[in-house]
Amino acid sequence: MSPEEVQELRARRYNATVVYLKKVHSDLMVVRVRPDFPRPAHHPGQYCTLGLGYWEPRAEGCQAEVLTPDDRAKVVRRAYSISCPMEGDDGNLYDPAGTDWLEFYIVLVRENADGRVPALTPRLFALKEGDRVQLGEKIAGHYTLDPVRPGDAVVFLGTGTGEAPHNYMAWELLRRGHAGPVLNACCVRYARDLGYLETHRRLAGRYPGYKYLPLTTREAAVTRKVYIQDVITGGELEEHLGAKLDPDRTHVFLCGNPKMIGVPVRDKATGAVTYPHPQGVIEILEARGFRADVSATKFKGNVHFEEYW
Ligand SMILES: Cc1cc2nc3c(=O)[nH]c(=O)nc-3n(C[C@H](O)[C@H](O)[C@H](O)COP(=O)(O)OP(=O)(O)OC[C@H]3O[C@@H](n4cnc5c(N)ncnc54)[C@H](O)[C@@H]3O)c2cc1C
Repeated sequence: MSPEEVQELRARRYNATVVYLKKVHSDLMVVRVRPDFPRPAHHPGQYCTLGLGYWEPRAEGCQAEVLTPDDRAKVVRRAYSISCPMEGDDGNLYDPAGTDWLEFYIVLVRENADGRVPALTPRLFALKEGDRVQLGEKIAGHYTLDPVRPGDAVVFLGTGTGEAPHNYMAWELLRRGHAGPVLNACCVRYARDLGYLETHRRLAGRYPGYKYLPLTTREAAVTRKVYIQDVITGGELEEHLGAKLDPDRTHVFLCGNPKMIGVPVRDKATGAVTYPHPQGVIEILEARGFRADVSATKFKGNVHFEEYW
């Protein structure tokens, strides 16, 4: 594809600019994107799409890709939760009124176990500030704070970049002066994968009702090596929350790796529930009287989830 063709495709297909890009490390980044159109109204927890043309360069060290000439002119899009800086540059709580961008928290998928070549993240990780992208004009999703009542305990459990929507929702609860305790736990492989750690620590120091619980599975760093399921069954989660996991007064939000979430299959005819193995968080919580949402609109329980794949 000639440079003129690339220029023409970019002009025609892109509608937003990267205004900030911070690599937490080579495979993890926080990126802010300013749309050419007014930032769409949305709720914390929702997502939109980012897209780039197959003609764009890819980060090095990713699974090899073979494209047909037809593929080259297409745009690949994926869903991304909207994240939140939580703090402004002045150290106060972030004020969106002073900004015109959306923040995203993205991990580089270098290769897929199932053989499908990851198309978008290798290209997103070749971006720099000032580059253009395609931003979906519609912000969507039912993973929001709607079911939370004033005074409820709120527990966010995320894996990796699954903390993105939780950061936005936790910020919203702090902004509202939510009266109940808020625990935001994030499970990653290594401590270096905790891109918002210092922000959370500062906020937890300032807001007595807010706690951040970082968990690492591959190294004993910030905590011992541990999975989210372990801190629930071992009772540590309640200790950190400072309250019992009471189904009548608690909402749990689960985001990221489907294995952590463990969405069951519910047989409509018999009502039988089959949980996946290894055991996910939904099975542990439902054994304690919680009930997970059945689908976005069918049944709203007190365990809400967003699977990233
Ligand atoms: C509603 C929704 C919101 C999402 N929000 C985010 C977000 O905020 N940040 C983000 O990094 N991703 C997010 N994702 C995942 C994102 O849409 C892409 O799937 C991901 O960026 C990989 O794209 P790709 O084209 O490079 O690889 P794909 O070809 O799409 O590869 C998908 C594979 O990559 C792996 N994978 C996908 N996402 C992740 C992840 N976050 N962490 C670890 N492994 C992953 C899985 O093995 C999955 O099978 C979200 C997905 C959904 C459905």
